[in-house]
Amino acid sequence: MTIPIRRVCPACGNQPVAETTYGPRGTVESWVDLQVSTDAYQAPYQVGFVTLSEGPRLFTRLESVRSRDQAVRLAGEPDRDTYWFVADPTTTPIGGQG
Ligand SMILES: [Zn+2]
Repeated sequence: MTIPIRRVCPACGNQPVAETTYGPRGTVESWVDLQVSTDAYQAPYQVGFVTLSEGPRLFTRLESVRSRDQAVRLAGEPDRDTYWFVADPTTTPIGGQG
């Protein structure tokens, strides 16, 4: 899996590459709070690993995560080459609509 979408396989160079839709739901595996700003991001912010409900795992920016196994959902559009996830404020089961 690659984000953003690539038209050529990054491992072997083959084409075409199948396009599949994942998300928007997943669970947080681990995360860290970052306290130092970069040119791109103003601290404090969070990054961590999220396992999507379909299985793939992403390292991504997060927002308002407070515990492991917290339900999150993909929200909004890509920001630069990063996708945003936000903590899901509902109790909707993983894999539910949303
Ligand atoms: Zn390949």
